Amino acid sequence: MTERGRSTGPGPVPVVGPSDPRLDAIYQENLTDLLRKVLVIGLLLGLPTIVAVIVVTGPTDPLVGRVYPPLVVYLAVYAWVLMRRPTRAVAFSRLTLALIQAVWVVVMVYRLRSAPDAAAGWASLFPTTFMGLVIFVLVGYLVHDTRRALVNAATVIAVVTVCGAIALLSVDGGDAYLVDLLRYAVYLCIVALLLHVLARAKARLGLALAVAQQATAEAHEMRDMAYLDPLTGVANRRRLVEELTFQAQHVSPAHPVAVLYFDLDHFKQVNDEHGHAVGDQVLTTVAEVASRVVRQGDLVARVGGEEFVIVAPGTSHDRAVQVAERLREVLPEEVGLAVGTRITASFGVVALHPAEPAVAVLTRVDALMYHAKVGGRDRVTTSPV
Ligand code: GH3
Ligand code: MG
Ligand code: MG
Repeated sequence: MTERGRSTGPGPVPVVGPSDPRLDAIYQENLTDLLRKVLVIGLLLGLPTIVAVIVVTGPTDPLVGRVYPPLVVYLAVYAWVLMRRPTRAVAFSRLTLALIQAVWVVVMVYRLRSAPDAAAGWASLFPTTFMGLVIFVLVGYLVHDTRRALVNAATVIAVVTVCGAIALLSVDGGDAYLVDLLRYAVYLCIVALLLHVLARAKARLGLALAVAQQATAEAHEMRDMAYLDPLTGVANRRRLVEELTFQAQHVSPAHPVAVLYFDLDHFKQVNDEHGHAVGDQVLTTVAEVASRVVRQGDLVARVGGEEFVIVAPGTSHDRAVQVAERLREVLPEEVGLAVGTRITASFGVVALHPAEPAVAVLTRVDALMYHAKVGGRDRVTTSPV
């Protein structure tokens, strides 16, 4: 496989912990993703239910008729934000929850006070108003961190209890329902505490996931550092030797493996005339062009200052010579266009032998490349298979 991608080079290994900003970012991302999925599913189920309530009770219940339709519109916008604007999902969710909770408390007080008697007022709170409050406590744990969710739950319970008690005491016979209201508040407390325990477990799980993701990213970075040439981003010698060793175990007449070795001609002059930075640009361009010219599955490696090797599995010797000739032709053009300097290269091409050690094949192909140099440079030298 052609190796591309630039290594970032060695650097301090970051400390893994919840205070690590990179870790926090991954953790937030996981959380936002989870939140969006759960809330979108909740909305997809909830919206048709609210529409059904509007259709069935809207004509007779003025509150449903007036409050629910704008609520449906708002929730539809909210669902759109969750799906299309993920970066705003958390902030929008917190705002939505605060608004809906306030609306719900107002609705509760309105129902208790506007009913013909206390019994009817109390009955009208079931199931929508009371179930809604339970759901809000739950959603609080999705949109807030655990501590704020607990504060949210405690606020909801306190406000519902106080406002409910005041509303009940203001209607005839309402005091008979105070105990029921307190029982309801206790149930809400129990739900909140259970959610709190679950949320803490979820937070730990999220953190564990974030740590695992960071470890994977670091492992990839380390692998890149171990196998890639930092200047050009192609494979380094270590990777090349591994590839050659692997291919030597699998090469056969039916599956030939070609090895191309090339060295830039008079590269020292480029550095001397144009400076080291231009020399580096030439090397990077050469690596890019070589990676483009080879097939997918071929390996391009930089093995020395201005020396490159291509390992081409499944490529016959003749075909490999054609590839070398093509590269020899395009390199001066491409480098000229990209860097404004003319450069040529000398090539050696061999076929890998079964079980041949990497160092042996590199010595053979290097010798051929040397013949190309001696023969006048800017040419391809091959050996019979
Ligand atoms: P030849 O045609 O015989 O190969 O001549 P040459 O000048 O290409 O070969 P020589 O071995 O004399 O010089 C290679 C030069 O490559 C010398 C060194 O300064 C340069 N070089 C090696 N590594 C790098 C690098 O990473 N960046 C740059 N810019 N130059 C490098
Ligand atoms: Mg050279
Ligand atoms: Mg050289």
